[in-house]
Amino acid sequence: MAAVGRDNLRRVHPVPNTGFARAYLIEGEEGLMAVDVGSFGCAKDIAEHITRVLGCSLDDLHYITATHFHIDHIGGIGHLLAMCPPRTRVLFHAMVSDYLTGKRKISLIKNWFVGFPPATVVSARHLRRFSPLGPESLTGIPLPGLRNIIKLPFDTNRIDYFGDENKTAVPLGDYGFGEWEAFCTPGHTEDSVCFFNRTTGELLSGDLIISISADGRGDLNRFCWNRDRIKESYEYLRRTVNPHFIYPGHGEVIAGGDDTLSKVKTFSGDAADGNL
Ligand SMILES: [Zn+2]
Repeated sequence: MAAVGRDNLRRVHPVPNTGFARAYLIEGEEGLMAVDVGSFGCAKDIAEHITRVLGCSLDDLHYITATHFHIDHIGGIGHLLAMCPPRTRVLFHAMVSDYLTGKRKISLIKNWFVGFPPATVVSARHLRRFSPLGPESLTGIPLPGLRNIIKLPFDTNRIDYFGDENKTAVPLGDYGFGEWEAFCTPGHTEDSVCFFNRTTGELLSGDLIISISADGRGDLNRFCWNRDRIKESYEYLRRTVNPHFIYPGHGEVIAGGDDTLSKVKTFSGDAADGNL
């Protein structure tokens, strides 16, 4: 694989206009990992970004992963996988295997009214056409009834699982991504993870931190399963890592230099803080 980002100490490539959620490609030692593939259109855009922009081939895409098991982050994985060679695998948090076997249900989102509209508005800015909206299945919708639809349109033997419920940090060296670590950061969902590169200080925050406001600071996500767990996960990250760049699940990249996490807007000052 061409060492696409080795010169400027960036290992994350945001893929533009991929739909509702942001999609990223991250570099490992010898290959790429796609993070959050939410639709047919997103899968196609990622494939084109790998070949046309990065000058790599789909053979270089070693893994496809997701920051959490929601439709806007997983709804195109099968389509992308179908374009890749058999060696390309899917990497999920271990909790996802419980969803697939029916041992556990995906967590419900509680505060649709305060959380969903702002995330929708900021996400719409990255929609340049309608094709990135179409998911390949209805799996991963956090609503009563709909959350029981759990069927992935690809062979589940192609999935590797990392971590478990009791682990908070999982090094990804075993998968060829030695600079990277996955942090279990429940709150938006139970299975939410962030990916962090200790060399470059780049954090993929999933939907723990999104970027709603135009001031470039980022926001803790009010649209969540458990607001207290969101705060705990944020505090855990602040104690553990010092990112210079935050790549959110929705909205613009947050570039804050040193201690970027301290600039993220928390829930303090909310009238309902702690009650949701
Ligand atoms: Zn999302």
